[in-house]
Amino acid sequence: MTRTRSAEEKALRRRERSIAALEPWRVNGGHPLKVREMRTAINVLLAAKGLPIKACSKCHKLKATSAFNRYKSSDGFASYCRQCNADTHASRMATEPAYAERNRVWSLAYYWDHAEERRQYSLDYHRRNREANMVKNADRVQDPNVMKRCKGQCGRTLPETSFRLDRGNKDGLRFKCRDCADSSRRARTACRNAYGSPVGQPCYLCQKTFTSEVKVQADHLHPTSLGGADDAANLWWAHEYCNINRHARLLTPEEWDRVRSLQRQAASAPTQTKEPTP
Ligand SMILES: [Zn+2]
Ligand SMILES: [Zn+2]
Ligand SMILES: [Zn+2]
Repeated sequence: MTRTRSAEEKALRRRERSIAALEPWRVNGGHPLKVREMRTAINVLLAAKGLPIKACSKCHKLKATSAFNRYKSSDGFASYCRQCNADTHASRMATEPAYAERNRVWSLAYYWDHAEERRQYSLDYHRRNREANMVKNADRVQDPNVMKRCKGQCGRTLPETSFRLDRGNKDGLRFKCRDCADSSRRARTACRNAYGSPVGQPCYLCQKTFTSEVKVQADHLHPTSLGGADDAANLWWAHEYCNINRHARLLTPEEWDRVRSLQRQAASAPTQTKEPTP
């Protein structure tokens, strides 16, 4: 037999439920935004009033909706604010190898899917800015009293006199210090002499074949910061992007195997434009 509830009974049940919903609020130090149900109710209320504010479900702070990413949800925004999103991402990258690997694959795919767009943008950017910079930096000389950080592998902060001029750049100087620039050039020359031009050969990191359009660097297999040498045995071609993303990470045994076989192949291939060895 089913029992029908009276109106008073229903009202009593509703009241009990709403008191139960308040319970975690008391437990959580009395902050309503720390309780999921309360937070949702507040967010719904704010949205209904058309206010561009939202409570983050991670840091429990009220923030402007512009601090949230767009997302396919009922209010059109993600539940974590951007800062919490970034923090969560960073900690997962550091602690979950599977997550880090999945992310690496995705970002690589995204990078290559947009390669042509990116190339066009950087060409336009340089056209727009280089000429103006040349005029602006026409009288530029290095000031020994001004310091600049090297964007190369050394990362040192050095006086401007340690950088060569490049008037087309915004500050009129090269990104890399003389030492880093020379090391890169030495590596490039050694790599080219031993294995020929990179065009038509594969990048040992992403395994794509180099075209003449992409930026290629001679990568130190054992990083220079850990004592790696500039000689051919320690070098192979890598995309600028792949090289930067590798940082100073040590290679895995598979990567060593791959690069050793590439080196052997290239060194024995007669078709490459190698400089004659003495
Ligand atoms: Zn947050
Ligand atoms: Zn440097
Ligand atoms: Zn690559």
